[in-house]
Amino acid sequence: MIKGIGVSAGIGIGKVLLVEEHSLEYTPKAVENAAEEIKRFNSAVDKFCENTEKQAEALKVSAGAKEAEIMLGHIGIVKDPFLLGEVEKLIQGGQCAEAAFESMCDMFIQIFSAADDDVTKQRAADVRDVKSGVVSILLGIEEVKISDAPPGTVLFAKELTPSMIAEIKKENIVGIVTETGSTTSHSAILARVLEIPAVMSAADVMTSAKNGDTVIADGGKGEVIISPDEAQLADYTAKRDKLLEERKALEKFRGQPTVSADGTTYELVCNIGKPDDAKKAMDFDGEGVGLFRTEFLFMDKTSMPDEDEQFEAYKKAALILKGKPLIIRTLDIGGDKDIPYLGMAKEENPFMGFRAIRYCLKNRDLFKTQLRAIIRASAFGKIWIMFPLITCVEEVREGKALVEEIKAELKAENIDFDENIKVGIMTETAAAGIIADLLAKESDFFSIGTNDLTGYTMAADRGNSEVSYLYSALQPSVLRMIKSIIESGRKNNIPVGMCGEAAADPMMIPLLISFGLTEFSVSAPSVLRVRKCISGWTKEKADEVAEKVMSLATQKEVYEYLKTVV
Ligand code: PEP
Ligand code: MG
Repeated sequence: MIKGIGVSAGIGIGKVLLVEEHSLEYTPKAVENAAEEIKRFNSAVDKFCENTEKQAEALKVSAGAKEAEIMLGHIGIVKDPFLLGEVEKLIQGGQCAEAAFESMCDMFIQIFSAADDDVTKQRAADVRDVKSGVVSILLGIEEVKISDAPPGTVLFAKELTPSMIAEIKKENIVGIVTETGSTTSHSAILARVLEIPAVMSAADVMTSAKNGDTVIADGGKGEVIISPDEAQLADYTAKRDKLLEERKALEKFRGQPTVSADGTTYELVCNIGKPDDAKKAMDFDGEGVGLFRTEFLFMDKTSMPDEDEQFEAYKKAALILKGKPLIIRTLDIGGDKDIPYLGMAKEENPFMGFRAIRYCLKNRDLFKTQLRAIIRASAFGKIWIMFPLITCVEEVREGKALVEEIKAELKAENIDFDENIKVGIMTETAAAGIIADLLAKESDFFSIGTNDLTGYTMAADRGNSEVSYLYSALQPSVLRMIKSIIESGRKNNIPVGMCGEAAADPMMIPLLISFGLTEFSVSAPSVLRVRKCISGWTKEKADEVAEKVMSLATQKEVYEYLKTVV
């Protein structure tokens, strides 16, 4: 068994198709007629763009507009005026088109690969993809046709590029296994959208398998079994069929309201990172957006998006949602989320440092730009503003004062906005949990961020595997925190939602129903599963479970008990 990272859940069982990188070797030749060579190069670029447009078109149908845009980004790379200019110069200096283009691409790949953040690193993969596409055309090499793969194929590749994914016929590819990549790489995102089980960063898989081998790819656990024995095959086939059955059974919850067994209606919304994800939220039957993590708008760029650009992004999400709720969280930067062009200082303890609302309140221009963009967009939908990492009342007051200042400015400028725009907070720090009663008086709503609340309550870094045994929302301390936040919200008549991962945890759901949560914000693919789960509980039964859970002393006891009731 080969261990990798599970990036798209599900079990794929099929035959291996090795997608080998074709050899792009050639003997560089000196060029005598530079003008002719430049012409040859330009027509290769044109052909590349033509191919890419076709692939994007296909991807739009199979995966959606956003995914097609990733593909079209390759045209932006190959048409970059600086890149083209430098390649021409090298050709004029006597290099052949292949060598000139390759050396320029390699330079970019080196720069991007050296970056600390995943987003920039991803660009290296994109440039590599563009390089092999253009050089293949120059060398007259025929591409491997993933689109011709037969039904029941598991693709094996060193690196799966977005252009390869674009060729996938969803009905034929049952799994994806790669040697590189992780959860945040574009190909992982695409695999999830296509709902194809995928394992990435699985070492040496290309040399461990040959074409036609039977293989099992477990995209949940991140495991690959090449040439499984009969018992393994039977076991995984049963697991796969059960998962597929469950997925099919969930379809009956599509288009239905989210209602508990005794008739209480809940709001079931989605977490998104990009405006286009709002479409995905709708496709998966979400009832709106409970958390728009706006930092991704900033992280994907090399400079700060200005007010109009942000306004267009927020407006786009609002229009997609057609009046359904859209909670936009202001910039939650710092911790593990760096924006290189902001030049934030390196800190000893970034998770407790100068970040999120703290950074925004001290960088007023940046904060005001974002708030103006959000408030302007509120004319186009039901937008609420949410501040992250709140630890004290002053932060809420200061943030709200800025919102009021902007509203007055917009009024004076005759710009439309929602005068009653709600302003709420993430309750995701221990401090916020402890003074939730005070914060509830200052906020229009709460959203419990259990990802951080667990970390800050347990003093356990959410990304540190050494302390992951402590990091659980089922810890009695975290459960008490959650319960008291919800109670404080209810006493003050403000809605309380949850946008941390715990909101989609079947073990947590009865407790949240009992405590009085009203909104669940989850990842889009979890919507139907959570709706089904909520439909199975009455308040009375949930109260019984919660009472028992709150009497238990350890996370293990809580977990063991909940295992018996869900
Ligand atoms: C959280 O902390 O629970 C949360 C939803 O925010 P993020 O995961 O973006 O920190
Ligand atoms: Mg958080």
